[in-house]
Amino acid sequence: MSQSLRVAIIGAGPSAFYAAEQLLRQESIDVRVDMFDRLPTPYGLVRAGVAPDHQKIKNVTKAFAQMATNPRFRFFGFVEYGKDITLDELKQHYHQVLFATGAQSDKRMGIPGEDLGGSHPATAFVAWYNGHPDYRDYQFDLTQERVAIVGVGNVAIDVARILCLSPHELRMTDMADYAIEALSKSRVREVYLLGRRGPAQAAFTNPEIKELGELEDADVVIRPDEVALDAVSKAMVEGSGDRSLAKKVELLQAHASHAPAGRLRKLFLRFLVSPVELVGDSAGNVATMRLVKNELAQDDAGSIVARATDQFEDLPVGLVFRSVGYRGSPLPGIPFHDRWGVILNEKGRITDPETNRAIIGEYTTGWIKRGPSGVIGTNKPDAHETVACMLEDAAEACTLQPEFPDSDIEADLIRKKQPRYVTFQDWLKLDEIEVSRGLAAGRPRVKLTSFDEMLSALGK
Ligand code: NAP
Repeated sequence: MSQSLRVAIIGAGPSAFYAAEQLLRQESIDVRVDMFDRLPTPYGLVRAGVAPDHQKIKNVTKAFAQMATNPRFRFFGFVEYGKDITLDELKQHYHQVLFATGAQSDKRMGIPGEDLGGSHPATAFVAWYNGHPDYRDYQFDLTQERVAIVGVGNVAIDVARILCLSPHELRMTDMADYAIEALSKSRVREVYLLGRRGPAQAAFTNPEIKELGELEDADVVIRPDEVALDAVSKAMVEGSGDRSLAKKVELLQAHASHAPAGRLRKLFLRFLVSPVELVGDSAGNVATMRLVKNELAQDDAGSIVARATDQFEDLPVGLVFRSVGYRGSPLPGIPFHDRWGVILNEKGRITDPETNRAIIGEYTTGWIKRGPSGVIGTNKPDAHETVACMLEDAAEACTLQPEFPDSDIEADLIRKKQPRYVTFQDWLKLDEIEVSRGLAAGRPRVKLTSFDEMLSALGK
């Protein structure tokens, strides 16, 4: 091995930055990190997933940008793994390759009518309003008055809240300009959030529920009977000793006891219902969602699950978002577990599906390693686990044996394969442009949302 340990990280989201930070911080080996992303911009879901009205959460990027000043770190944006740079090329230049590509797709509901016009993955809507270049041309029919969102996780809550923001609230965000314009004109009046289990099993967190009660233009409406705990849930809440869980139920029950204040929109939070079919109109657009009422039961493993009853109801809706979880996408040349939607790994070491043994020099971290769960900070201990394996393997000289470990990959390869690549210095220029445009508009930033806009702003 040459003097330095050369590491390539694929992906530039929070898990990638936490891993880079931990690799560069340790003193036992001289590590050089090159980070690649298919977008010209870093930060993954912090930029394209975190809700645009949750600016404080995005402060984490300040620490990432600080880390990026380390001379042993380089960012190569607009360089796509599998297209602009291949696994074989990476293996020729690096001792270790770390995949941190997140979860770029979504789970499906698996019901008839799911692909009708007007039925979308929530992940696409999130990427659209956040100005992700791949999604900026998506169309969502905001002339519809009724919208259903399936699932009650924090993504579903984000989508519901964004659909309910007033023009004034929208203008305070860093949402893409086109989305602010479309949402300001939205005719949506009723938003239905649909949980298949009860309030005690809802995946959203308490601050998000409190926030719904503070919306300028929307009343939260909850049916008291749907947030009354059944015996199993009551025992679960009391037995868990989890104060925040009891608080969640209290918050929901408090909302249920309030009469609506007559605001423009109503945000209905429903529990114990599952969509069984989307029924279309003659033009092939969703018109009705067929729901079945559920009851709770305990399965053999003791988990509380939703069990369908024989009671159905029809909900007239013209727009549907499924928000039942993100899902990882396979990467060329990397073993993937299709059902779990993750890269096969053991504590971050990518494993061969035939032998179950670690593949030398290949690692993973973040959502593509463990699945789409947890908050941004959850990626820190996750990255720590993977980085510990990487350092352990490096200490035992169990790394790839690159042919060109000392070459300047920037000059030798990337400049040739993707001449319009974006460095971290370039990103800082884009960042400055966006922030100064935002300052002029009294907003946190005004995003550049197309590749052309970004690259021409950089003269590329
Ligand atoms: P999530 O938290 O896993 O929630 C998924 C929801 O979909 C659950 O309510 C789940 O219900 C439901 N669901 C799954 N399959 C379903 C089906 N077939 N039919 C009906 N409902 C179904 O996922 P997420 O909302 O996509 O969030 C991903 C992660 O990002 C989470 O860890 C979340 O906390 C985090 N996040 C955090 C924030 C924040 O901190 N503000 C914001 C956004 C996202 P069951 O529980 O019954 O399975």
